[in-house]
Amino acid sequence: MPEKPEVITVTKKLEKRLLNRKITDCKVYYEPIIGYPSSKEFISKIKNQTMNSFSTRGKWIVIELDRDYLLVHLRMEGKFFFREKNAILEKHHHVVFTIDNEEELHFQDVRKFGRMKLIPKDKINEMSPFTELGLEPWDKSLTPDYLKDKFKNKKIPIKTALLDQSIITGIGNIYDDEILFLSHINPLTPANKLNDSKLQLIIKNTIITLDKAIEEGGTTIRNYTSEEGVTGLFQNHLYVHTKVGEACPNCGETIIKIKINGRGTYYCPKCQK
Ligand SMILES: [Zn+2]
Repeated sequence: MPEKPEVITVTKKLEKRLLNRKITDCKVYYEPIIGYPSSKEFISKIKNQTMNSFSTRGKWIVIELDRDYLLVHLRMEGKFFFREKNAILEKHHHVVFTIDNEEELHFQDVRKFGRMKLIPKDKINEMSPFTELGLEPWDKSLTPDYLKDKFKNKKIPIKTALLDQSIITGIGNIYDDEILFLSHINPLTPANKLNDSKLQLIIKNTIITLDKAIEEGGTTIRNYTSEEGVTGLFQNHLYVHTKVGEACPNCGETIIKIKINGRGTYYCPKCQK
């Protein structure tokens, strides 16, 4: 599943090709992909709107149009492909946008979990998903005090608390393990037991980890070309995640794997006591 850095990488790739281009037509071949409004309304409203800016919020790609925002969540396996106009529709290509430069943007999703929403600009902060999303990792309001307040009644493991998108948005299972490793925090530590300096470390290492992954995403994304599509798979430089049985890069102890709330969790039992 793509995490925030991959979503940012995909968004940048889309921006490069699509900024200031107009959507002239749209076809939906699998309606449940359209989460809001109805697919009929989605199609009629999106036509003739220009893509004015590209950003992300949580794991949503946010494309600012003239009157609305187009939001896209890739979920498990959603991918974008560029095709020539009137290209033959391939398998699992569920939504096709025609662009004013005689290209098409195809959304492919084998698993069909991806979602798109078209939300009026003046409603964006009143509607799902924005109402459910916490602070972005780079938000200046993300402070130890903010986390202390959010965690105050939470006895759940910090590993689980960091996955709660209503607190910090954009940390997924992989980078969660990396952040806790860098912070020397045991993933089972109850969230409400962390002091200010530990919370500050979490914030700092969240930014470091995601920035590094985004930077790598720009250079190590291999399977992106205009023909092959836009994906964002690059998880090459991990310290602990998936490294069960390997030596800790910090102390040499063997990295172990446990399950926390059903999620595979990797850590160093010596560095993260
Ligand atoms: Zn270690």
